Amino acid sequence: MRRPMVAGNWKMHGTRASVAELIEGLAAQVLPGNVDVAVIPSSLHIGQVVDGLQSGLIMVGAQDAAVQAEQGALTGEIAAVQLVDAGCKLVLVGHSERRLLLGESDQVLNRKFAAIQASGLTPVLCIGETLEQREAGQTLEVVGQQLDSVIKAFGIQAFVNAVVAYEPVWAIGTGLTATPEQAQDVHAAIRAQLAKEDSEVAQGVRLLYGGSVKAANAAELFSMPDIDGGLVGGASLNADEFGAICRAAGN
Ligand code: PEP
Repeated sequence: MRRPMVAGNWKMHGTRASVAELIEGLAAQVLPGNVDVAVIPSSLHIGQVVDGLQSGLIMVGAQDAAVQAEQGALTGEIAAVQLVDAGCKLVLVGHSERRLLLGESDQVLNRKFAAIQASGLTPVLCIGETLEQREAGQTLEVVGQQLDSVIKAFGIQAFVNAVVAYEPVWAIGTGLTATPEQAQDVHAAIRAQLAKEDSEVAQGVRLLYGGSVKAANAAELFSMPDIDGGLVGGASLNADEFGAICRAAGN
């Protein structure tokens, strides 16, 4: 049985004041005991969130990490070991905003993936197709290639301590959500690809769906057999909405 996970990606949002408010709202939520819940604030606010969420019921993650695990001369970057020191448990890698808007290649992402894992953190590998690619019938090919890049570089055992988030680019921040069937089809293909290498590892990997998840559509998405929870952007900035999504994952 895979334990569901819901992670809230706050992206480049928040001030000290709004983050304090969000922490207060999260602390007031009744969260299900059978779900791993995480929030992923901007790096600037990680310390505030770790200190503020004292109950330990919510993990804190980072949105990015440097290509090297250790501290060093790399201006502007944050080493995975620094994220560990700050109290993080997981790190996003390969979010489409970084792949497409910041030009991060598979090669760079693989170095980040390795640095994150080497530090004992869990990488949340984000993969997904653009609208153009979906319309051209290339969804499974694109997602398959993104996944294959990590399998080829590190082998299937790298997925024992990793989470995969399927995030169709056309559904991120657009209000358009993949239907539960569309998402399930891709999740099943991802798991099958992993199973070709090792079926036990494939059965254990958590596959999250991301793309305009909200309280109103979460339960239906999470009811699909290969959807093990969600990576939530916009809706995670509202504590009540995020709490409701977490509860949907627990049902
Ligand atoms: C995301 O950025 O990972 C995401 C899924 O965003 P949203 O929920 O806003 O579509």
